[in-house]
Amino acid sequence: EKKVLEKKLLLNMKRYEAVFQSAHDGIITIDSHQHNKLMNQAATQMFGYQLHEMAGQSLTKLIPQKYRSKHKEYVNGFKNSPTDSRPMQTRATVLGLRNDGSEFPVEITISKIQVKENIELTAVIRDVSKKNALMEELIVAAHEDPLTKLFNRRYFTELLNKEILRFKRFKQKFSLLMLDIDHFKAVNDNHGHMVGDEVIRHISALIRSHVRETDTSGRYGGEEFTILLADTSAENAFVFAERLRKEVEAAVVKYNDIELNYTISLGVAEVDSSIKNYEAWIESADAALYHAKENGRNKVSIYKSD
Ligand code: GH3
Ligand code: MG
Ligand code: MG
Repeated sequence: EKKVLEKKLLLNMKRYEAVFQSAHDGIITIDSHQHNKLMNQAATQMFGYQLHEMAGQSLTKLIPQKYRSKHKEYVNGFKNSPTDSRPMQTRATVLGLRNDGSEFPVEITISKIQVKENIELTAVIRDVSKKNALMEELIVAAHEDPLTKLFNRRYFTELLNKEILRFKRFKQKFSLLMLDIDHFKAVNDNHGHMVGDEVIRHISALIRSHVRETDTSGRYGGEEFTILLADTSAENAFVFAERLRKEVEAAVVKYNDIELNYTISLGVAEVDSSIKNYEAWIESADAALYHAKENGRNKVSIYKSD
């Protein structure tokens, strides 16, 4: 009977060992003095050590200096708590320290077992540096136009809807500006797309340098831009638009040995209670822009409902 039990025990041990060794996540067991008792290969690789280098070593080697005392407090708190397992600081990022001195974000779950009078803790550690970097990239991509670094259309229109709600509640004035480069097709046709892109970057930089911190600017389409001016009436937005229009008219864009001028047309639409959603607001600014184009380009028009 004892032999059968021993065999079963051995089999179980082998099962756990297989999980432990093949796990993609790092697994580390420490004793009550935070000394390493057991570490799998994924963990040593993650932190940049050989297995033997970490044997019996203090766990603090794997934690950046500035977090060490906090970590100790946390581990002691967990040791004395009634729960047997929990994720570590789920909301804040926990940082690990590699052998080469670099830090990296990790997700950790810890559990504890009683070994005679001592408590051992086992941590399952996941390196989330790739995941975090990808998430950051995605967040930026969801907001930003890559060529100009202005907000993209999707994000900008979301913002417009929010400002319409704000207008309804607080009656704060907002004006939307729609801007389109005049005869831009000719720029591409005469000088090529690279020069066209340079002009797009040029107008983006000008827009960025003109707006206030409370304003928002976006690239609405190819050579169309939107600017949301906070706390600004249509008349004041017109003054802003005229200043930008004149500055563009006077500017020279240089690309290699090419020098060229361009102009822009702008439409202004102040939000009012007839505007229910961003589409209606854009349509108004677009109608004013169309009027400016019809009027000979290099012009600013204000939308009037009549
Ligand atoms: P209008 O004065 O009526 O606005 O004339 P336009 O030629 O500027 O207007 P249109 O809308 O016909 O042409 C826009 C052109 O912008 C067509 C397209 O090839 C070009 N374009 C759109 N996006 C980009 C871009 O990212 N880079 C470059 N180089 N060209 C672009
Ligand atoms: Mg256009
Ligand atoms: Mg155009």
